[in-house]
Amino acid sequence: MTMPSFVRHCPSCGMGNRIPARHLADAGRCGSCKSPLPPLGEPLDVNAEEFANIVAEAKVPVLTDFWAEWCGPCRMAAPEVKELAREMAGKAIVLKVNSDEYPQVAARFGVQSIPNFVVLRNGQVVSQRAGLAPRAEMRRWLEAAA
Ligand SMILES: [Zn+2]
Repeated sequence: MTMPSFVRHCPSCGMGNRIPARHLADAGRCGSCKSPLPPLGEPLDVNAEEFANIVAEAKVPVLTDFWAEWCGPCRMAAPEVKELAREMAGKAIVLKVNSDEYPQVAARFGVQSIPNFVVLRNGQVVSQRAGLAPRAEMRRWLEAAA
């Protein structure tokens, strides 16, 4: 199995840098212009393989937002989830899994309704909740898992 890596674009020169899952929450340096590359600060849309890789490799808590296109509450949650990822940059990773495209991942966590938020640490589920939640509460889940 090949290890997926994730392309992050340098804020200074725009060059794509390939980042392995275990370093997604770390600050680094652009391979091209050597400018600082900040830790991941936005939700990452992942497929089943990328999800498994990040959950297994991440050194910080991972919040996964299970969502789907047709889900109104998911659309309401999206800006909050995005802001959460920005607030928790370097301290947590925020993933988005489309439960229509990857039903096997959703089934693994018993996701019956969406949005559904699963917090994982070292590959284990720390907490899980269905339905909209305020951003401050989502942040507390991640802080409790740190
Ligand atoms: Zn650069």
